[in-house]
Amino acid sequence: MSNVQVAVVTGSNKGIGLAIVRALCKQFPGDVYLTSRDPGRGQAAVAQLQQEGLRPLFHQLDIDDLQSIRALRDFLKEKYGGLNVLVNNAGIAFKVHDTTPFPVQAEVTLKTNFFGTRNVCTELLPLMKPYGRVVNVSSMVSSSALGGCSQELQQKFRSDTITEEELVQLMTKFVEDTKKNVHQKEGWPNTAYGVSKIGVTVLSRIQARLLNEKRKGDHILLNACCPGWVRTDMAGPKATKSPEEGAETPVYLALLPSNADAPHGQFVSDKTVRPW
Ligand code: NAP
Repeated sequence: MSNVQVAVVTGSNKGIGLAIVRALCKQFPGDVYLTSRDPGRGQAAVAQLQQEGLRPLFHQLDIDDLQSIRALRDFLKEKYGGLNVLVNNAGIAFKVHDTTPFPVQAEVTLKTNFFGTRNVCTELLPLMKPYGRVVNVSSMVSSSALGGCSQELQQKFRSDTITEEELVQLMTKFVEDTKKNVHQKEGWPNTAYGVSKIGVTVLSRIQARLLNEKRKGDHILLNACCPGWVRTDMAGPKATKSPEEGAETPVYLALLPSNADAPHGQFVSDKTVRPW
């Protein structure tokens, strides 16, 4: 088993994820895994970074596929005996003018952004080594979507005692409510992406609390963040930040020094803790 440190970035064949891998290759003192659901796209991205003189490694990962997540888990366990840095970056968003029925958009978006990210955490968080760093890429849209929720939902999502099971039930209820076309009556905002990112931010708060309860002495720091509005296939060419600028906050959180005890369980943008 290798004693080398290891970092994994999900959804990193393009966009912000690729920029995070590029920055980690330059700054992280260990192996950096570029992952992609499609090996062809992943290998092409690795080749691109190699052209720049960097040495990322590759592993397949589709966060919608539990078998794929578990294959990566087993590989990391066997080769490294764990994991030092996990960046949950993979995500999807329907375009504003997409005509796919809203209930389908809700189901598909939640499947990847919330349930897929949660499955990665379930399988890989137990592997985190002492002083590990976990970064869940959420969005400022999670804050605005929270503001669009009913008072009752806002209270639940801001609660310091909400459990992961309760959060999963709420995310499942959102999808079911869209199918019955009662989601707005039930207090949800009219944004599937926004609700999925509420899920990612609240999940991060819960996971950080569990780390405090169960592994306090291991000094693991886990946060959610917003990369900003970034020029990628997701956000388009008019966005204000380059992918490299978008990677700055996730990379800052991934490389928090070993003597840092904060931020932890926070929502961070522009390297600044934001109120939730
Ligand atoms: P992007 O260019 O569309 O890249 C998304 C990445 O996620 C791609 O590599 C994509 O792979 C991957 N992905 C999607 N579904 C996946 C799955 N099931 N398994 C594994 N990988 C999967 O988007 P981006 O702008 O870089 O977004 C990265 C993250 O930042 C997302 O979580 C997004 O919500 C968040 N974010 C972005 C912005 C922004 O302005 N861009 C703002 C706030 C938050 P494929 O190439 O195979 O599709």
